[in-house]
This record gives sequence, structure tokens and C-alpha cells, in this order.
Amino acid sequence: MLRLAVKGPHTVLSSSVCAACPYSPAGCCVAPPRLDLSDVGRIVALGGRDWLLEEIAAKRLVVGARWLSISRPKRPLAVNGPREAACVYHGPTGCTISHDRRAATCNYYVCDAARAGEHEARAREVHERLIASFVAWDKTINARIDATWPEGPTFDAAFLDWLGAMFTELSS
Ligand code: SF4
Ligand code: SF4
Repeated sequence: MLRLAVKGPHTVLSSSVCAACPYSPAGCCVAPPRLDLSDVGRIVALGGRDWLLEEIAAKRLVVGARWLSISRPKRPLAVNGPREAACVYHGPTGCTISHDRRAATCNYYVCDAARAGEHEARAREVHERLIASFVAWDKTINARIDATWPEGPTFDAAFLDWLGAMFTELSS
């Protein structure tokens, strides 16, 4: 069954199919999305600035030029299974962090197999609209960074606060 909690950029789509994912014991969390600047701004806007700094310090989030990557340590994903890489936040019963701390893709992505059913058309429409919004916000944020930090930003508290304010401005 597909569930939609439509809340603008904080929308969550989920499917009962994922609990028994046909592709992997960790589902699509074997390949977590990176956190683009709009994702980082969303997390800050929801009160997660200090959490981000802690995760960066612990190397669970790895700083890229203009994004954060989620680390993928290897471990068994199923009892007695082989060691495989997967998102550091994936645990035996699924994601261990709240929707407020995830990349938006984690919240709104479901594959075709998981989307089939009663609300499929609505889910596809919501999914495509969110992709378009986040791509547009990233483009604007990157343009403002080009003008403000031509050498590239540092992922410190001040920059994260700036991203949070940018996200709030763009998404309101
Ligand atoms: S969205 Fe698809 S690939 Fe991802 S966990 Fe669900 S069923 Fe598996
Ligand atoms: S943050 Fe959570 S939902 Fe996203 S890839 Fe990692 S475990 Fe999966």
C-alpha cells in the first residue's frame, strides 16, 4: 500500500512493498542519495544545524564541493548475509533518522514496484513536482554561492545558517 503525506518540500511517500524489498535487504538504502545544498538547507531550517555539524565531525556525512555524501560502511545486511555497503543510517528495521534529517529524495522516492497501486498517478505527480522544485532551488543557491563565495563555501555553522535561511526564503 502506498502512503502519501503531502507537506510541500517535507512530503513523505512510503510503500509497504519496501519492508520486503525485492532488490536488497536494505532496499534502495544501499545507495543513499547525496545531500544537495537544498537538502542541507531544509535540514537546517528544521533545526538540524548542530546535528549536521556532529555528523560531519563523525564522518558519517562527508563534505564535497557543494554537497554532503552519506558514508556507506560494509556490514551484513541480513542475518548471516555477506558484508555489503549501505547507508550508515540504515538499521535492522529501516532508517534510523527522522524524516527531518534525511535528503528529500529519501522522503519522496519510491521505485515503480513500490508505487504501483491505488495512488500511483498522484504519487508520480507529487514526485515529479518535488524533483523540479529541489532542482530549481539548488540552481538558485549555487548561483548565489558563485556570487558570494567564488572560492567555494566551508561547511561551518555560519554557512549552514545561511543555507537554512536560503531554503526558507525559496520554499516559502
Ligand atoms: S522503493 Fe523500491 S527499491 Fe527502494 S526499498 Fe522500496 S521496493 Fe526497494
Ligand atoms: S538516510 Fe535513511 S532513508 Fe535515506 S538512504 Fe539512509 S537509511 Fe535510507
